Amino acid sequence: MTDAPRPALSVVVPCFDEEGVFPAFLARMTAVLDRIEGASEIVVVDDGSRDATWRLMAEASARDPRIVAVRLMRNHGHQLALTAGLSICRGERVLIIDADLQDPPELLPDMMARLDAGADVVYGQRRERAGESLFKRLTAAAFYRLIGRMSDVEIPPDTGDFRLVTRRVLDMLLAMPERHRFIRGMVAWVGGRQEPIAYDRAPRAAGESKYPVSKMIRFAADAITGFSVVPLLASMTIGWIMAAVGFAFFVYSIVGWLMHSNLPGWTSLMAAIGLLGGMQFLMLGVIGAYLGRLYDQSKGRPLFLIRDIVGGGR
Ligand code: UDP
Ligand code: MG
Repeated sequence: MTDAPRPALSVVVPCFDEEGVFPAFLARMTAVLDRIEGASEIVVVDDGSRDATWRLMAEASARDPRIVAVRLMRNHGHQLALTAGLSICRGERVLIIDADLQDPPELLPDMMARLDAGADVVYGQRRERAGESLFKRLTAAAFYRLIGRMSDVEIPPDTGDFRLVTRRVLDMLLAMPERHRFIRGMVAWVGGRQEPIAYDRAPRAAGESKYPVSKMIRFAADAITGFSVVPLLASMTIGWIMAAVGFAFFVYSIVGWLMHSNLPGWTSLMAAIGLLGGMQFLMLGVIGAYLGRLYDQSKGRPLFLIRDIVGGGR
Protein backbone atom coordinates (compact mmCIF):
# COMPACT_ATOMS: atom_id res chain seq x y z
CA MET A 1 0.00 0.00 0.00
CA THR A 2 2.78 2.39 -0.83
CA ASP A 3 0.44 4.79 -2.63
CA ALA A 4 -1.54 5.40 0.56
CA PRO A 5 -1.15 8.92 1.98
CA ARG A 6 1.89 9.43 4.16
CA PRO A 7 1.35 9.46 7.92
CA ALA A 8 2.20 12.78 9.52
CA LEU A 9 4.76 11.11 11.75
CA SER A 10 6.92 8.00 11.84
CA VAL A 11 8.74 6.83 14.93
CA VAL A 12 11.77 4.65 14.17
CA VAL A 13 13.16 2.41 16.91
CA PRO A 14 16.17 0.08 16.50
CA CYS A 15 15.99 -2.79 19.00
CA PHE A 16 18.56 -5.42 19.92
CA ASP A 17 17.62 -7.83 22.70
CA GLU A 18 15.14 -5.41 24.19
CA GLU A 19 12.45 -7.83 25.44
CA GLY A 20 12.82 -6.39 28.95
CA VAL A 21 11.88 -2.87 27.96
CA PHE A 22 9.94 -3.19 24.71
CA PRO A 23 6.38 -3.41 26.16
CA ALA A 24 7.03 -0.45 28.47
CA PHE A 25 8.46 1.53 25.57
CA LEU A 26 5.44 0.87 23.36
CA ALA A 27 3.04 1.80 26.15
CA ARG A 28 4.71 5.16 26.73
CA MET A 29 5.27 5.88 23.03
CA THR A 30 1.70 5.07 21.94
CA ALA A 31 0.31 7.14 24.83
CA VAL A 32 2.21 10.13 23.42
CA LEU A 33 1.11 9.41 19.84
CA ASP A 34 -2.53 9.27 20.99
CA ARG A 35 -2.23 12.94 21.93
CA ILE A 36 -0.60 14.03 18.66
CA GLU A 37 -2.62 15.29 15.73
CA GLY A 38 -2.56 13.32 12.48
CA ALA A 39 -1.81 9.72 11.61
CA SER A 40 1.35 8.11 12.87
CA GLU A 41 3.28 4.86 12.61
CA ILE A 42 5.95 3.20 14.73
CA VAL A 43 8.58 1.31 12.78
CA VAL A 44 10.34 -1.09 15.16
CA VAL A 45 13.42 -2.84 13.82
CA ASP A 46 14.64 -6.11 15.29
CA ASP A 47 18.39 -6.03 14.79
CA GLY A 48 18.93 -9.78 15.03
CA SER A 49 17.80 -10.12 18.64
CA ARG A 50 18.40 -13.43 20.38
CA ASP A 51 15.56 -12.98 22.85
CA ALA A 52 11.78 -12.60 22.46
CA THR A 53 11.97 -9.10 20.95
CA TRP A 54 10.71 -10.19 17.52
CA ARG A 55 7.77 -12.14 18.94
CA LEU A 56 6.76 -9.12 21.02
CA MET A 57 7.05 -6.89 17.96
CA ALA A 58 4.98 -9.16 15.73
CA GLU A 59 2.28 -9.47 18.39
CA ALA A 60 2.20 -5.72 18.90
CA SER A 61 1.84 -5.12 15.16
CA ALA A 62 -1.10 -7.53 15.05
CA ARG A 63 -2.79 -5.59 17.87
CA ASP A 64 -2.06 -2.06 16.74
CA PRO A 65 -2.21 -1.17 13.02
CA ARG A 66 0.19 1.74 13.63
CA ILE A 67 3.04 -0.64 14.39
CA VAL A 68 5.24 -1.87 11.55
CA ALA A 69 7.64 -4.60 12.65
CA VAL A 70 10.81 -5.14 10.64
CA ARG A 71 13.20 -8.03 11.22
CA LEU A 72 16.73 -7.98 9.84
CA MET A 73 18.50 -11.16 8.79
CA ARG A 74 21.05 -10.78 11.60
CA ASN A 75 22.59 -8.17 13.86
CA HIS A 76 23.75 -5.28 11.70
CA GLY A 77 24.52 -2.83 14.52
CA HIS A 78 22.62 0.16 15.82
CA GLN A 79 23.34 2.60 12.99
CA LEU A 80 22.43 0.20 10.19
CA ALA A 81 19.33 -1.09 11.99
CA LEU A 82 18.27 2.52 12.34
CA THR A 83 18.99 3.09 8.64
CA ALA A 84 16.78 0.11 7.76
CA GLY A 85 13.90 1.59 9.75
CA LEU A 86 14.43 5.03 8.23
CA SER A 87 14.34 3.62 4.72
CA ILE A 88 11.03 1.86 5.39
CA CYS A 89 9.17 4.56 7.32
CA ARG A 90 6.83 6.76 5.32
CA GLY A 91 6.03 9.71 7.57
CA GLU A 92 6.27 13.40 6.74
CA ARG A 93 8.34 13.73 9.90
CA VAL A 94 10.48 11.13 11.58
CA LEU A 95 11.34 10.69 15.24
CA ILE A 96 14.45 8.62 15.95
CA ILE A 97 14.41 7.17 19.45
CA ASP A 98 16.07 4.37 21.42
CA ALA A 99 13.97 1.54 22.81
CA ASP A 100 15.38 1.70 26.33
CA LEU A 101 13.42 4.79 27.43
CA GLN A 102 16.60 6.80 28.00
CA ASP A 103 15.10 9.29 25.56
CA PRO A 104 11.70 10.45 26.86
CA PRO A 105 8.89 10.00 24.27
CA GLU A 106 7.01 12.77 26.10
CA LEU A 107 9.35 15.34 24.53
CA LEU A 108 7.71 14.75 21.14
CA PRO A 109 5.02 17.50 21.31
CA ASP A 110 7.70 20.14 22.04
CA MET A 111 9.81 18.81 19.19
CA MET A 112 6.83 18.90 16.83
CA ALA A 113 6.19 22.53 17.79
CA ARG A 114 9.79 23.42 16.84
CA LEU A 115 9.29 21.89 13.40
CA ASP A 116 5.97 23.72 13.05
CA ALA A 117 7.97 26.90 13.72
CA GLY A 118 10.27 26.12 10.80
CA ALA A 119 13.11 23.96 12.11
CA ASP A 120 14.38 21.16 9.87
CA VAL A 121 15.85 19.13 12.72
CA VAL A 122 15.33 19.17 16.47
CA TYR A 123 17.91 17.13 18.34
CA GLY A 124 17.87 16.10 21.96
CA GLN A 125 20.81 17.43 23.93
CA ARG A 126 21.57 15.78 27.23
CA ARG A 127 21.57 17.90 30.35
CA GLU A 128 22.03 15.09 32.82
CA ARG A 129 23.23 11.60 32.14
CA ALA A 130 21.75 9.83 35.13
CA GLY A 131 22.69 6.21 35.55
CA GLU A 132 25.55 6.38 33.07
CA SER A 133 28.95 5.42 34.41
CA LEU A 134 31.68 7.98 34.99
CA PHE A 135 33.67 6.07 32.38
CA LYS A 136 30.95 6.52 29.75
CA ARG A 137 30.55 10.21 30.53
CA LEU A 138 34.31 10.89 30.45
CA THR A 139 34.91 8.99 27.23
CA ALA A 140 31.89 10.65 25.61
CA ALA A 141 33.15 14.10 26.62
CA ALA A 142 36.64 13.34 25.29
CA PHE A 143 35.20 11.95 22.07
CA TYR A 144 33.04 14.99 21.31
CA ARG A 145 35.98 17.33 21.98
CA LEU A 146 38.21 15.32 19.70
CA ILE A 147 35.78 15.12 16.80
CA GLY A 148 34.87 18.79 17.30
CA ARG A 149 38.51 19.72 16.68
CA MET A 150 39.06 17.35 13.81
CA SER A 151 35.94 17.79 11.73
CA ASP A 152 34.74 20.71 9.63
CA VAL A 153 31.17 19.64 10.27
CA GLU A 154 29.86 21.05 13.51
CA ILE A 155 28.65 18.01 15.37
CA PRO A 156 26.74 19.07 18.47
CA PRO A 157 28.17 17.54 21.67
CA ASP A 158 26.17 15.44 24.14
CA THR A 159 23.66 14.21 21.60
CA GLY A 160 22.53 10.77 20.61
CA ASP A 161 20.42 9.95 17.63
CA PHE A 162 17.28 11.10 19.47
CA ARG A 163 15.87 13.69 17.08
CA LEU A 164 12.92 14.72 14.98
CA VAL A 165 13.62 15.45 11.31
CA THR A 166 11.58 16.48 8.30
CA ARG A 167 11.01 14.20 5.34
CA ARG A 168 13.27 16.50 3.30
CA VAL A 169 16.19 15.98 5.68
CA LEU A 170 15.45 12.26 5.90
CA ASP A 171 15.55 11.87 2.12
CA MET A 172 18.89 13.71 2.02
CA LEU A 173 20.20 11.40 4.74
CA LEU A 174 19.02 8.30 2.91
CA ALA A 175 20.75 9.49 -0.27
CA MET A 176 24.13 9.05 1.48
CA PRO A 177 25.40 5.59 0.64
CA GLU A 178 28.10 5.37 3.29
CA ARG A 179 28.36 2.09 5.12
CA HIS A 180 30.17 3.17 8.30
CA ARG A 181 27.48 5.50 9.45
CA PHE A 182 27.65 8.13 12.17
CA ILE A 183 24.09 9.28 11.73
CA ARG A 184 24.12 12.21 14.16
CA GLY A 185 27.09 13.61 12.21
CA MET A 186 25.47 12.94 8.86
CA VAL A 187 22.34 14.83 9.94
CA ALA A 188 24.52 17.74 11.08
CA TRP A 189 26.28 17.66 7.70
CA VAL A 190 22.95 18.21 5.91
CA GLY A 191 22.60 21.67 7.52
CA GLY A 192 19.42 23.72 7.39
CA ARG A 193 17.85 24.92 10.61
CA GLN A 194 18.88 22.52 13.37
CA GLU A 195 17.91 23.25 16.95
CA PRO A 196 18.78 21.57 20.24
CA ILE A 197 16.20 20.71 22.84
CA ALA A 198 17.61 20.04 26.32
CA TYR A 199 16.53 16.99 28.26
CA ASP A 200 17.63 14.84 31.16
CA ARG A 201 18.71 11.44 29.97
CA ALA A 202 17.14 8.81 32.19
CA PRO A 203 18.88 5.58 33.13
CA ARG A 204 18.05 2.57 30.98
CA ALA A 205 14.59 1.31 31.99
CA ALA A 206 15.55 -2.39 31.78
CA GLY A 207 18.23 -4.62 30.34
CA GLU A 208 21.89 -3.96 29.68
CA SER A 209 23.57 -1.42 27.43
CA LYS A 210 24.07 -2.88 23.96
CA TYR A 211 27.18 -0.75 23.53
CA PRO A 212 30.10 -2.50 25.24
CA VAL A 213 33.48 -0.75 25.10
CA SER A 214 34.52 -2.63 21.94
CA LYS A 215 31.47 -1.34 20.04
CA MET A 216 32.01 2.16 21.44
CA ILE A 217 35.58 2.21 20.13
CA ARG A 218 34.49 1.02 16.69
CA PHE A 219 31.70 3.57 16.63
CA ALA A 220 34.12 6.37 17.57
CA ALA A 221 36.55 5.21 14.86
CA ASP A 222 33.73 5.19 12.28
CA ALA A 223 32.80 8.70 13.33
CA ILE A 224 36.36 10.03 13.09
CA THR A 225 37.24 8.34 9.80
CA GLY A 226 33.85 9.37 8.41
CA PHE A 227 34.21 13.02 9.31
CA SER A 228 37.90 13.88 9.29
CA VAL A 229 41.11 13.16 7.40
CA VAL A 230 43.21 14.79 10.13
CA PRO A 231 44.58 11.41 11.36
CA LEU A 232 45.76 10.62 7.82
CA LEU A 233 47.51 13.96 7.54
CA ALA A 234 49.07 13.64 10.99
CA SER A 235 51.86 11.51 9.53
CA MET A 236 52.90 14.56 7.52
CA THR A 237 53.26 16.69 10.65
CA ILE A 238 55.07 13.94 12.51
CA GLY A 239 57.24 13.41 9.44
CA TRP A 240 58.34 17.05 9.39
CA ILE A 241 59.23 16.96 13.07
CA MET A 242 61.13 13.69 12.65
CA ALA A 243 62.95 15.05 9.62
CA ALA A 244 64.08 18.10 11.60
CA VAL A 245 65.26 15.97 14.52
CA GLY A 246 66.93 13.56 12.09
CA PHE A 247 68.80 16.39 10.41
CA ALA A 248 70.06 17.67 13.75
CA PHE A 249 71.36 14.18 14.54
CA PHE A 250 72.97 13.99 11.13
CA VAL A 251 74.92 17.20 11.73
CA TYR A 252 75.83 16.10 15.25
CA SER A 253 77.18 12.76 14.10
CA ILE A 254 79.19 14.26 11.23
CA VAL A 255 80.75 16.79 13.58
CA GLY A 256 81.52 13.98 16.04
CA TRP A 257 83.13 11.95 13.24
CA LEU A 258 85.29 14.89 12.15
CA MET A 259 86.42 15.38 15.74
CA HIS A 260 87.01 11.62 16.26
CA SER A 261 84.83 11.67 19.38
CA ASN A 262 82.01 9.30 18.33
CA LEU A 263 81.03 6.69 20.95
CA PRO A 264 79.21 3.39 20.39
CA GLY A 265 75.88 5.11 21.28
CA TRP A 266 73.65 2.08 21.95
CA THR A 267 71.10 4.06 24.00
CA SER A 268 70.41 6.74 21.41
CA LEU A 269 70.19 4.12 18.69
CA MET A 270 67.65 1.99 20.54
CA ALA A 271 65.62 5.05 21.51
CA ALA A 272 65.48 6.20 17.89
CA ILE A 273 64.56 2.74 16.56
CA GLY A 274 61.86 2.27 19.18
CA LEU A 275 60.34 5.67 18.63
CA LEU A 276 60.45 5.53 14.85
CA GLY A 277 59.20 1.94 14.72
CA GLY A 278 56.24 2.70 16.97
CA MET A 279 55.39 5.82 15.05
CA GLN A 280 55.57 4.09 11.68
CA PHE A 281 53.30 1.22 12.74
CA LEU A 282 50.86 3.66 14.27
CA MET A 283 50.64 5.62 11.04
CA LEU A 284 50.31 2.42 9.02
CA GLY A 285 47.41 1.53 11.31
CA VAL A 286 45.79 4.89 10.61
CA ILE A 287 46.11 4.32 6.87
CA GLY A 288 44.69 0.83 7.40
CA ALA A 289 41.68 2.21 9.25
CA TYR A 290 40.77 4.36 6.27
CA LEU A 291 41.73 1.78 3.66
CA GLY A 292 39.64 -0.95 5.32
CA ARG A 293 36.59 1.27 5.30
CA LEU A 294 37.25 2.26 1.70
CA TYR A 295 37.45 -1.44 0.83
CA ASP A 296 34.17 -2.18 2.65
CA GLN A 297 32.51 0.66 0.82
CA SER A 298 33.87 -0.38 -2.57
CA LYS A 299 32.25 -3.79 -2.29
CA GLY A 300 28.94 -2.00 -2.53
CA ARG A 301 27.01 -4.56 -0.52
CA PRO A 302 23.57 -3.54 0.71
CA LEU A 303 23.68 -1.75 4.06
CA PHE A 304 21.21 -4.17 5.67
CA LEU A 305 19.16 -7.25 4.81
CA ILE A 306 15.49 -7.44 5.70
CA ARG A 307 13.95 -10.77 6.57
CA ASP A 308 10.34 -9.80 7.33
CA ILE A 309 8.09 -6.78 7.48
CA VAL A 310 4.74 -7.26 9.19
CA GLY A 311 1.92 -4.95 10.20
CA GLY A 312 0.83 -1.51 9.15
CA GLY A 313 -0.58 -2.95 5.90
CA ARG A 314 2.93 -3.62 4.59
N1 UDP B 1 20.84 -1.36 19.24
C1 UDP B 1 20.65 -2.04 18.04
N2 UDP B 1 21.64 -2.86 17.57
C2 UDP B 1 22.82 -3.04 18.23
C3 UDP B 1 23.02 -2.32 19.45
C4 UDP B 1 22.02 -1.48 19.92
O1 UDP B 1 19.59 -1.90 17.40
O2 UDP B 1 23.66 -3.80 17.76
C5 UDP B 1 19.77 -0.47 19.76
C6 UDP B 1 19.34 -0.75 21.19
O3 UDP B 1 18.36 -1.74 21.24
C7 UDP B 1 18.82 0.61 21.64
C8 UDP B 1 19.72 1.59 20.86
O4 UDP B 1 20.28 0.84 19.78
O5 UDP B 1 17.47 0.83 21.24
C9 UDP B 1 20.81 2.18 21.71
O6 UDP B 1 21.54 1.15 22.37
P1 UDP B 1 21.87 1.23 23.93
O7 UDP B 1 20.76 1.88 24.65
O8 UDP B 1 22.23 -0.15 24.39
O9 UDP B 1 23.16 2.14 23.93
P2 UDP B 1 23.61 3.15 25.10
O10 UDP B 1 22.42 4.00 25.43
O11 UDP B 1 24.01 2.28 26.24
O12 UDP B 1 24.74 3.91 24.49
MG1 MG C 1 20.59 3.37 25.90
